[in-house]
Amino acid sequence: MLPIERQRQIVVWLEEEETLSIAELSRRLNVSEMTVYRDIRPLLEDKKINKTSCGISLATIGTVPANSCTYCLKELNNRHPVQIITNDQKVEQLCCPHCGLLRFRDIEKNVSQIICRDFLQNTTISAKLAYFLMGADFHLNCCQPQVLTFDSLKYAEQFQKGFGGVIFQFEEAVDEIVKRMNGNRSSKCHQSGGSGRDK
Ligand SMILES: [Zn+2]
Ligand SMILES: [Zn+2]
Repeated sequence: MLPIERQRQIVVWLEEEETLSIAELSRRLNVSEMTVYRDIRPLLEDKKINKTSCGISLATIGTVPANSCTYCLKELNNRHPVQIITNDQKVEQLCCPHCGLLRFRDIEKNVSQIICRDFLQNTTISAKLAYFLMGADFHLNCCQPQVLTFDSLKYAEQFQKGFGGVIFQFEEAVDEIVKRMNGNRSSKCHQSGGSGRDK
């Protein structure tokens, strides 16, 4: 696991369990306590988590730091953010549909609504009714593999004609992105070069 993956995992656990000790994190992640300290240092510096008497906890339970993606912790400056509203009315901001889908899979049972924007018109749509174009040759400078969202299948297909990629509906898109992120060897991704960059 990469440090960034461990950080995400730590945040996911903290959301579920509120407080965790360093020793417990070290055991679960199978890394040394030193490594755990190194992993959490940026989270502490960004004030995403707090030190407590028995370990660490999320800094502000119930409020998402206004300016960063809940999933990848990147600053939100993309034109195509995604919002997830949870069953307890928390609003989470995700930098792009890529993170929106992955975050949805993480907290699926607790999601009340997931909202994205139509790529062409920038209107707000329910992600569950949207069409997802993955791997188009059009760069948004956000997370890879990149995902674009469309309100209508017709426009998604027109865009696909020009820029390539594969169109999915919501559930398929969630499965597909999880699969691609897990580096499933049976997927259609190119194996050559090994740069991991999906075209
Ligand atoms: Zn993100
Ligand atoms: Zn992103």
